[in-house]
Amino acid sequence: MKVDWLIVGAGFTGSTLAERIATQLGQTVLLVDRRSHVAGNAYDKYDESGVLVHQYGPHIFHTNCRKVWDYLSQFTQWRPYQHRVLAVVDGKKVPVPFNLTSLHRLFPASSAARLEDLLIRHHGYGAKIPILRLRQSANQELSALADLVYEKIFLGYTLKQWEFRPEDLDPSVTGRVPVHVSWDDRYFQDTYQAMPARGYAELFRRMLAHPNIEVGLDTDYRRIQGQVRFNRMVFTGAIDEFFDYVHGPLPYRSLTFEFLTVDCEWYQEAGTINYPNGERFTRITEQKYLSGQALPRTTIVREYPEKHVPGQNEAYYPIPREENREQHKLYLREAAKLNGSVLFAGRLGDYKYYNMDQAVGRALRLFEEIAAP
Ligand SMILES: Cc1cc2nc3c(=O)[nH]c(=O)nc-3n(C[C@H](O)[C@H](O)[C@H](O)COP(=O)(O)OP(=O)(O)OC[C@H]3O[C@@H](n4cnc5c(N)ncnc54)[C@H](O)[C@@H]3O)c2cc1C
Repeated sequence: MKVDWLIVGAGFTGSTLAERIATQLGQTVLLVDRRSHVAGNAYDKYDESGVLVHQYGPHIFHTNCRKVWDYLSQFTQWRPYQHRVLAVVDGKKVPVPFNLTSLHRLFPASSAARLEDLLIRHHGYGAKIPILRLRQSANQELSALADLVYEKIFLGYTLKQWEFRPEDLDPSVTGRVPVHVSWDDRYFQDTYQAMPARGYAELFRRMLAHPNIEVGLDTDYRRIQGQVRFNRMVFTGAIDEFFDYVHGPLPYRSLTFEFLTVDCEWYQEAGTINYPNGERFTRITEQKYLSGQALPRTTIVREYPEKHVPGQNEAYYPIPREENREQHKLYLREAAKLNGSVLFAGRLGDYKYYNMDQAVGRALRLFEEIAAP
């Protein structure tokens, strides 16, 4: 077999590149994935109760990037969806990111009103303040509030999720859920927030339905090396694995997902409920909020974070620490020796946490480089 491109990994990165190369350059692509399905970690399927579940954890689409939104809209219609998250704190459920509603649920009316006033005076209505910065506030009441939010909402969750304290990780981790001086209790504030009307797997099927694209599932690229001839390769698997871990395995966090179908129409009062303290799992998501289905039963998923062990469990989250970025650079040097014959991209190839829109954006930019004369 001879193709123009071998693309490894049929997640958002690999599939976007395959689609662009096939339709815009008219070149042939063999897209392989060692899993038995396309869509990478965004893969979804119907469970026995007919609920559309996300096999690798809840995936909510949100973006501010019009280009990515327009690109994906070619392959799906959307169901508008605004995700909401609550965290269990001292037996109460408060919105996350921490906002003015959370403040009023946790504190007696008079102190909540005073803190609300202070937050607005010091930061302005609508401000988003990373928790680590709020802890440095010169105002003692605000720094005391930040300490409490840190202790009750961030610390336990971060320790479970990463086995590191928030201050020992890249500030972008806690920066993703800043304290929000607002009554807006949506988890994301992006311009576009929606779920693919018929699910992610269907979106991918439409994206890849082109005569120039052949998809090989249950296929580790190493198994077909030597059998397939190709001019260039894109690799969206783990870069350390590609180079046989010559510089040691890059650290990742893994997760175990526990799905449970419950014999009631609704299980909880929001799409996701976080359990920062106590439980071993970090959060419970009720899939029907995401799918918008009306069904008599419901399915929830609990997430249990764990260490990643290569070959034993899935690498989900690159651990954002300086020393890991330095280790990744050693692999980039190995990649440079290949003189562009293999391009690395995606969450595992770039060793970078990407949201789905960022993965698509990265792939679209890489395509522009490939297509440039
Ligand atoms: C629990 C969880 C929740 C998330 N929630 C959200 C969310 O709500 N919103 C959001 O925007 N993003 C979310 N994300 C991020 C999202 O999953 C990523 O943006 C997306 O998966 C990136 O796509 P990718 O193609 O780079 O990687 P992947 O989807 O991981 O695809 C890589 C593919 O490569 C394949 N592969 C690897 N090695 C080989 C090999 N040797 N041979 C063949 N195939 C191989 C893998 O099987 C995999 O299918 C979440 C991620 C996780 C882990």
